[in-house]
Amino acid sequence: SKILVTGCNGFIAAWIVRTLLEKGYTVRGTVRSEDKGIKLKEILNGLGEGLGQGLEFVVVSDIVKEGAFDEAVKGVDAVVHTASPVMLSAEADPQEIIQPAVRGTRSILNSTLKQGNDNVRRLVFLSSTAAVLEIHPEPTTFSEKDWNDQSVREAEELGKKAPPMSKYRASKSLAERTAWKFIDDNRGKLNWDLVVFNPPFVFGPVIHDVSSPSALNVTTAMLYNTIIGRGPHAMDLTTSNCWIDVRDLAEAHGLALEKDQEVANERMLVTAGPYVWQEWVDLANILAPTHFPSHSNLAKGNPIVDRSKVAYRILYDTSKAHRLLGIKYRSKEECLKDTLADYEARGW
Ligand code: NDP
Repeated sequence: SKILVTGCNGFIAAWIVRTLLEKGYTVRGTVRSEDKGIKLKEILNGLGEGLGQGLEFVVVSDIVKEGAFDEAVKGVDAVVHTASPVMLSAEADPQEIIQPAVRGTRSILNSTLKQGNDNVRRLVFLSSTAAVLEIHPEPTTFSEKDWNDQSVREAEELGKKAPPMSKYRASKSLAERTAWKFIDDNRGKLNWDLVVFNPPFVFGPVIHDVSSPSALNVTTAMLYNTIIGRGPHAMDLTTSNCWIDVRDLAEAHGLALEKDQEVANERMLVTAGPYVWQEWVDLANILAPTHFPSHSNLAKGNPIVDRSKVAYRILYDTSKAHRLLGIKYRSKEECLKDTLADYEARGW
């Protein structure tokens, strides 16, 4: 069957496309310009067995335009919506991020109802833990019942002065709320259901078109710059968050399409677990001699001596995704080993 993937040239979406093609689906991907589709097809073909043959792409230059996806949804069996701005900007007005996220979401939902209702059976929406977590003074374990209203308030109240992460998080929270409201408002009319994934920081090797480290998407740039110890997104090594390997997230999308009613209209937190950035730095120093030998001066930070003393501040209850999808997660070692080997192969 055929799956529509919006924003198919992005870091995560390229892995979703690859995973779906390997599972035997055909894929229609949307891109903002033709060159991005051509490039992804080339990359997939380079991965062997003419994988890119199963991908057709369509140009949707402006996802917020009324009816933007009307043609794209025709004849597909399911939709995976990933296209959304991922940027951390001190200068931007929050609405510059919120509007494309929210209106792009409304647009794919409207088109799917209007033009895809006879053929589409499921819409998988790539949300984020950004729509779930709020920053509390004490360490917190969040579940699917939690919603991030804090960032939405900050974006409203502080405008441009809101922290860059809050602007982005507000956009994801509002976009996901838009999707659930649409499902509520149109109950009885829809021949399809909604499945939402809420992943935290996504890391792993890249397969989409990235010419240099400075062209990496935000999260893989954070990991790269933190490990090499410099660059715009090098992180404070004591801060903690959760993560997932991009290949496991792509596999989760595949599973969501294979499952029946058990995942219908569910939102699911998916994560391999927590980290502090120092853990990635420590691991990189262990793995680099074998997997990233061309770099000898990686960041060191303050190596962790007693792992039992590592304080994680943000945690997620992932039992729902485990129960419904039986998803397995790669370890930090496996993720970083393959990521370093990817840097090495690219001559970074
Ligand atoms: P990328 O930046 O690699 O991909 C973003 C994709 O969205 C690209 O295809 C991009 O198109 C498209 N896009 C961005 N802004 C717009 C816009 N205004 N109109 C149309 N398309 C747009 O990032 P990721 O792969 O990391 O992110 C993909 C999705 O995953 C996003 O929805 C993000 O919120 C979500 N996510 C990411 C996480 C992460 O850690 N990376 C964690 C949780 C969720 P173009 O190339 O043309 O700019």
